[in-house]
Amino acid sequence: MLDNLVYGHAEIVQQVLGIPLVVGQVGDREVLEALLRGRHPSLVGTPHEGRPVEAVLHFAAYAYVGESVTDPAKYYRNNLGDTLTLLEALVASERPLPIVFSSTCATYGLPQQVPITEDHPQAPINPYGQSKLMVEQLLRDFGRAYGLPSVIFRYFNAAGADPDGDLGEDHTPETHLIPRVLDVMSGREPYLQIFGDDYPTPDGTCIRDYIHVSDLAEAHVLGLERLLRIREREEPTKDPLVYNLGNGTGYSVQQVIETAKKVTGRGLLAHVARRREGDPAQLVASATRAREELGWRPRYPDLGTIIEHAWAWHRNRHG
Ligand code: UDP
Repeated sequence: MLDNLVYGHAEIVQQVLGIPLVVGQVGDREVLEALLRGRHPSLVGTPHEGRPVEAVLHFAAYAYVGESVTDPAKYYRNNLGDTLTLLEALVASERPLPIVFSSTCATYGLPQQVPITEDHPQAPINPYGQSKLMVEQLLRDFGRAYGLPSVIFRYFNAAGADPDGDLGEDHTPETHLIPRVLDVMSGREPYLQIFGDDYPTPDGTCIRDYIHVSDLAEAHVLGLERLLRIREREEPTKDPLVYNLGNGTGYSVQQVIETAKKVTGRGLLAHVARRREGDPAQLVASATRAREELGWRPRYPDLGTIIEHAWAWHRNRHG
C-alpha cells in the first residue's frame, strides 16, 4: 500500500492488515514506477518483491469539503495533479493497468431528483467534488486514447466499521455525523451540533444514504474482478464503468441520532446550529446498477447495524 500518512495510520496497515507499507506520494513518479514493478525497497523480503502490480485501487485524496473551498489549490494539486501522474504511470507500459477509483456523490452537486442515478447531471458545488469529477474525466479520456480500463465508484456516506472491531474511522479533525454522535455519547465531546433543521425534509434535518464500509469494500472486490476479467478476455476498453455505492435508503440527522440512542442506550445533548454551507437537503443513491451489473448485495444495509459496528469500534479505539 502506498500512503503519505498525512491522514493514514501506519500501524493499522502493518499490524492489522499485515501488508507492506510504502510511505510516499501518489504523485511521485519514481516511487510509482518502483512499486508497480515490485521493485520498491520497502518490498524487499516480502511476497511482493519482484512481482509486478496487476491492478490499482486508488483511494488517496483530501476530502474536507469546507477546506476545499478555502484552499482549492491543495485539492487540485493532490486529488487531481497526483492522480494524473498515477494514470500516466499506469498507461506507460504496453498494457495499461486497470484502476478502481473512489469518486463521490459530491460530483452530482445539488440533486435535481432523488434517488440519484449514475446519469444524473454532474455539477459539483465545491472544489472537492470538482477535483473528483475532473479525475472521472481523465479516466474517460485515458480509456479512449490509451485503453486504460477503469471502474469509478461514487460513494454516498461511508459509515460503520469492520464488524470484528479491528478497523474503523479515525479522523482528525472528525467531521462526520456518526462518529461525532458517538463522541458525544461516550463523553469525548460535550454536545452535537445539528447543522440546520429547516430543510424541506419530513423532520427538517438533512437526509443521507449511509453505506457500510465493509459493503463498500466488497464492491471494490467485485469491480476489480470485473476489470481483470475484461482484461483477460482482451475485450476492447470502453468508457469507465460507473457505479453509485449506496443503499438507496435515506436517513435524516434526527433519525441517525434516534437510532444511535437505541443502539448505545445512551443519550446526547444536541443543539441546532446554522446550516453547513454546501449541504444539499437530500442525497440518496439509486444503486441498482451495481446490484445488476456487479451482483453487489450490501450485507449491512440496516442503519442500526452500521451504528452498532461503529460503536464497537469506537469503544475498542477510545475505551
Ligand atoms: N451533520 C450534523 N452535525 C455534525 C456533522 C454532520 O448535523 O456534527 C450533518 C451534515 O450537515 C449532513 C449529515 O449530518 O447533513 C452528514 O454529514 P457528514 O459530514 O457525515 O457527511 P457528508 O454528507 O458531508 O458527506
